[in-house]
Amino acid sequence: MTNYKTSTVCVQGGYEPKNGEPRVVPIVQSTTFKYESSEQMGNLFDLKESGYFYTRLSNPTNDAVANKICQLEGGVAAILTSSGQAANFYAMMNIASAGDHIISSSAIYGGTYNLIAHTMKQMGIESTFVEPDISPEELEKKFQPNTKLVFGETLSNPSLSVLDIEKFANAAHKHGVPLIVDNTFPTPIFCKPFEWGVDIVTHSTTKYMNGTANSVGGAVVDSGNFDWTKHSDRFPGLTTPDETYHGTVYTESFGKAAYIVKMTTNLMRDLGSIPSPQNAFYLGIGLETLHLRMERHFQNALALAKHLENHPKVSWVSFSGLENDSQHELAEKYLPNGSCGVIAFGVKGGREAAIKFMDSLKLAAIVTHVADSRTCVLHPASTTHRQMNDEELAAAGISQDLVRMSVGIEDIDDIIADVDQALEQ
Ligand SMILES: *Cc1c(COP(=O)(O)O)cnc(C)c1O
Repeated sequence: MTNYKTSTVCVQGGYEPKNGEPRVVPIVQSTTFKYESSEQMGNLFDLKESGYFYTRLSNPTNDAVANKICQLEGGVAAILTSSGQAANFYAMMNIASAGDHIISSSAIYGGTYNLIAHTMKQMGIESTFVEPDISPEELEKKFQPNTKLVFGETLSNPSLSVLDIEKFANAAHKHGVPLIVDNTFPTPIFCKPFEWGVDIVTHSTTKYMNGTANSVGGAVVDSGNFDWTKHSDRFPGLTTPDETYHGTVYTESFGKAAYIVKMTTNLMRDLGSIPSPQNAFYLGIGLETLHLRMERHFQNALALAKHLENHPKVSWVSFSGLENDSQHELAEKYLPNGSCGVIAFGVKGGREAAIKFMDSLKLAAIVTHVADSRTCVLHPASTTHRQMNDEELAAAGISQDLVRMSVGIEDIDDIIADVDQALEQ
C-alpha cells in the first residue's frame, strides 16, 4: 500500500486477503497456534522463522491493524499495546534503564507526566522537563552524557501546544539520541512526524484512531531512520547480544526493525501489555473512517472556537486553527490542513463558573475522555491533572478556569446551541 494516499491506506491498508480469504480482518481470538513438530515451534521461539505461536508476542489481527498504523505513519515497523500509557512507557523503556536520563517537553498528557516524573524515576530514570518554547541554546544545555531520548507531543493534551518538532529533532540528533513523539491528537491525517525528523511515534489509539470510545489501546511506530549502531555504546540493548534470546544482536539480525523486535521479545514477553484481538479489530474498523472523521472534528472545532472568541462569557479561547492563537504559526508549519477537534477556553468567573457551565451542558457529556465522535467536556484542574500542584499545572499550561472541550462530529448547530445555553446559566 506504500504508493497509495492516506485516505486509501485508512480504508484498505494493513491487510491484503489472498484468494478465498475473508474480506474483513478476522478476529483471531486464540491464545495459541498449532504446529506439526516441536522443531518448528522451537525455531519460532529462537526467532529463526517468523510465525505465530503465542498471542502475547504476536497475533494476526493485532498485526494487521499495527500494519495499517505503520503505513499511515510511513514507518517500517509497529506494534499495538493495550493502552497509550503502555505505548509511551514501552517506547522509552526499550532504550532507557536505571541510571539513564530523558528530556521531555513539559506540555504533555498528565498520565505521561506522572509516568516520567514519578514512576520511571522510581525505576532509576531521571528526567528534565523543558518548556516547549525553550530556545535551541537552552535546550542544548539540558543534555547529559546519560541522556537516552527526547520526548514530546505533536499537539499536547490538554494544553494544545504545537511541538516545534524540528527544534527538538535537531537537538536530539546532535546528541545522538532519538526523538519520540506522541502523535495522538493530530493523528497521521494531520501530521506525519517522521517527515519532520521524528524517529519514533506513539499513539493512544483510545482517542481519534478508535474514534468511538469502545476500547483503550496504544501503538508504537518506528521510522527506521535512527541509526542505533552509530551510537552503539549508548544503546547496548539493541547493538550487543541479548543473552535472554540466544545472543541475538537486534540491529544485526533485524536491521531497521530492530527497535520494534526488541520491544516484542523483551517488553511484551516480560510485561505483556497486549491488546485483545477483539479490541484490535474495533481499532481497525475505526481507522477505516479516520480521514473523514478528523476533517469533521476540525471543521466543527474551528466553527465553535470562532463562535466562542466573540462570546461575552468566555475570557479566552485556545485553538491553533484561530489566526491570532499563540500556536497558529507553528500549526501552519506542522499542521497545515487541520489539527484536531479539541479546543480549550476559559469561562469568565474562574473555577466555579467553569464547573457550573459544564454541569449545565445537555448534549456534551462530562467524561474523562477526549477525541471521540461525541462532544464532551472536561475540567483538567479538578480531574486528569488533580495530582499536580499549582506550579506543575502552570508548567503544563493549565489554569483553573480552563475547560477542555472535545468537539465531536454531530451537527455544529446543535453543538453551538448547547454551549450557548450552558454559558447563559
Ligand atoms: C490519552 C492519552 C494518553 C494515554 O493513553 P491511554 O490510552 O488512556 O492509556 C497518552 N498520550 C496522550 C496524548 C493522550 O491523549
